Amino acid sequence: MSQSQSFNTPPSPPSPFDSRIYSHLVGRSDHRVTSFQSVASAPTVLQFPATPSDPPSQYNPLQHYLPCLAPDCRNHYTTLLLGPTFYFLQSPYQLIRKRGLCPFHAQQDLKLANQRAKSTYECMRQNCGRKTLGAIAAEFEVYLRQVREERAEESKRMKVWQKQRVLPSALSGATKEKKGGETWGEEWDWRFSPRPCTKKGCEGDWYSPFDNRLYLFYTTPRPSGLVPLRTMCPSCAKDDVQTAEERIEGRRRDVGGLAGPEWGEWYVQVAKDRLMEIGFWENAQERIVREEMGKKPAAEVQPKKTVKEKSKRLTKLGVCVVM
Ligand SMILES: [Zn+2]
Ligand SMILES: [Zn+2]
Repeated sequence: MSQSQSFNTPPSPPSPFDSRIYSHLVGRSDHRVTSFQSVASAPTVLQFPATPSDPPSQYNPLQHYLPCLAPDCRNHYTTLLLGPTFYFLQSPYQLIRKRGLCPFHAQQDLKLANQRAKSTYECMRQNCGRKTLGAIAAEFEVYLRQVREERAEESKRMKVWQKQRVLPSALSGATKEKKGGETWGEEWDWRFSPRPCTKKGCEGDWYSPFDNRLYLFYTTPRPSGLVPLRTMCPSCAKDDVQTAEERIEGRRRDVGGLAGPEWGEWYVQVAKDRLMEIGFWENAQERIVREEMGKKPAAEVQPKKTVKEKSKRLTKLGVCVVM
């Protein structure tokens, strides 16, 4: 009844559905927690004002919205909204939820592990021969201990992957994960680092759309259906989306308030153009972020704000536009 298996090879996205493993997490919740929330429910709306990341303190992407590591999952979540007991041992088998997964996948993975444990016990009972119930219980406990250990191991590994994904320095030197003689890791995703605003002339601080206080601002559609562009700082993005909405409203008035097919087409085009705009400007942001932060240690990941650096960035952005 061995549960040994797991990660002998570097799975680019880990397989969160493999049920195995864990233990010493009790009392070790190092994440900031403010409220309990059912994992099944939608994320609570944080009522923070749309202001940029805490200058002058450092911005740590790990404390903000993080990508789920489950294959094909596009959810982001913040540990700020997970309940205080989210990563504790869970009944009935005292298994943990693994790190690195959105609440939905963490719960699904735990549920699967619980189901396996249950059927394993049933199986032990049915094939017990002359064993006593006590002997079966002891055998089952051995199995569970192994599952807990495996889950703990896997959770730890996933935490490392996630760190590699969001911190530019996580892949360098000593922190690089070694497994079976091979060095491997998740690729750093620049988008989780602070970025400069792309609005011409803006001197705003670098910001991150994954900032706990900004995530919903950048991802929740407004009553108009539009979403603020994540390629602009919160204040420019707000101005921009309001201007776009005024344009839409003006156009609607021009056609006499009737939203006919032609108007609908135009509106869809406006939304499409905005999406294209994001792609274009994000390429420009990526270049700058990679250049400025890609080589720096994580401790230096913080919003930039000097005017000098800013003008240098704008020049770079200008270059990007030409290209
Ligand atoms: Zn997920
Ligand atoms: Zn701006």
